[in-house]
Order: sequence, then structure tokens, then C-alpha cells
Amino acid sequence: MAYIAPVTRALSQFLRHPALSGTSAVLGRVLRAAADIVFPPSCLNCRAATGAPYGLCASCWSQARFIERPYCERLGTPFAADLGGDGFLSPDAVANPPVFARARAVAQFEDGAIRQLVHRLKYSDRMELAKPMGAWMARAGAELLDDADLLVPVPLHRRRLASRKFNQANALAQAVSVESGVPVDPFALVRVKPTASQVGLSRSQRALNLQCAFRVPEAMTARVEGRAIVLVDDVMTSGATANAASRALLRAGAKRIDVLVFARVV
Ligand SMILES: [Zn+2]
Repeated sequence: MAYIAPVTRALSQFLRHPALSGTSAVLGRVLRAAADIVFPPSCLNCRAATGAPYGLCASCWSQARFIERPYCERLGTPFAADLGGDGFLSPDAVANPPVFARARAVAQFEDGAIRQLVHRLKYSDRMELAKPMGAWMARAGAELLDDADLLVPVPLHRRRLASRKFNQANALAQAVSVESGVPVDPFALVRVKPTASQVGLSRSQRALNLQCAFRVPEAMTARVEGRAIVLVDDVMTSGATANAASRALLRAGAKRIDVLVFARVV
């Protein structure tokens, strides 16, 4: 049975593909209607029935806290109240300015649908989630992507990649690239230090833990030099990882680093 779900999902996506309406509109409509009967659209997270494909059901939607303006222009963290205009910075961005220029996220990283989606993409066999999650990211980061030359996913250390077989940040970056047209370079940055878990560490301990964790390989500096780069990851917690990765890219000559994540701790 484990093999059947991905096959039916792929078949269902194929039958709903807009290209089907190109060659024969009637046949396309018939096939899509058939797909809705055989494979009714389901919630990305919990697979409950929904009205439209690639979305969340009402229950999962109600658990998600999407981040929208007003937010801090630097950190992308939401403000409790509308201050009557854009361009405001949070006290945290002023007290601890990040290495990157701007960060944006789709939603707050909290218990419920958003945390489950992140977890399912990372540890479960749900790679197909990268596409819709990346599409949401492209929307949340539209202004960063408008100014971007290159997307760079936050890399895993090669030992971690070997054990997990798949870097969720790269999968999301590829999906953002499809939506935005900005190319991805998954080899521009490498993680040279297998960093210990960041859980339970203070802000300064996290920064120390990540010092020199990232490097732009000598052969890749030409791809980075003078480029406006959007660093892509699934989750931002303290920002220590994003800062360390940004520092390595800036040191290699990048013009500017922005950060786009699916979810962030607020
Ligand atoms: Zn749901």
C-alpha cells in the first residue's frame, strides 16, 4: 500500500495539469472531473477533503498564522499593531542588526499545520510538499525575488545529507525558482562543520556554534561575486544559521543577502 499513495498522487496531479486543456479542452475537462471523483482534492497537511487542490483544509488553515504586513522591514517579524506605514524596524533589528539585509517567511513556526508541514517535508516521504510550500514562499518573498540574481539553499553537512538523502532547503529553493524564474545554485555554499544541535543554546552560543560552519568553495566565488542572493531555508529560529551563511557569502563577494524561509520563530 505504501507504493500506491505516491502513484495515485502523481496520477491525480497529471490529470489536473492545465496542459491537458491545451490539446483537447473537452477531454481535459472530462479527465479533470474524473480525477476529482477518483482522487478528490485533499489537504496538503492532513489529507482531509478540500474544495481545491494544493491547499489546506479549514481546520489546518485556522491553525496557521501567516505573516503579513505590517512587519519589520529587516527581520520580517510581524508587528502587533499597524504603525501606519511601511519601513519600520523592530527593536530587535535595531539592537541586533542581522548580517543579511531582509528576511521574509510565509508563516510563524508554531504547533499545528505549519510545524507539521515542515516536519513532513523534512523527515517523511512527502517531497511533493516542496512544490506548494515553495509557491507560498515565492509569494511571501516576491519583493526579495524581484531584486535577486541567485537562490542559494542553506546546505547540510555532507554526512547529514548522506544519512538523510535529501536537503529540504534545496527542494524548496528549486520550487521557488520554478515560480520566480530566479536560478538556484545548490553548490555555491557548503557546510564545512557538522554543527551540533542548536536546541537549548543562547543567542551567543548559537553564533559561536556556527562560526566558520559555512564556506564558499574557491571554484564557486565567480558565481557569487557581485550577486544579489536570496538564501533559502525551511525554518528560521534565532537567525544564527542565516547570519553565518550570509557572512560566508558576503565574504566571498556577494552584493547583498536576503533570506526566505517557509516558517520562522517569532
Ligand atoms: Zn488539513
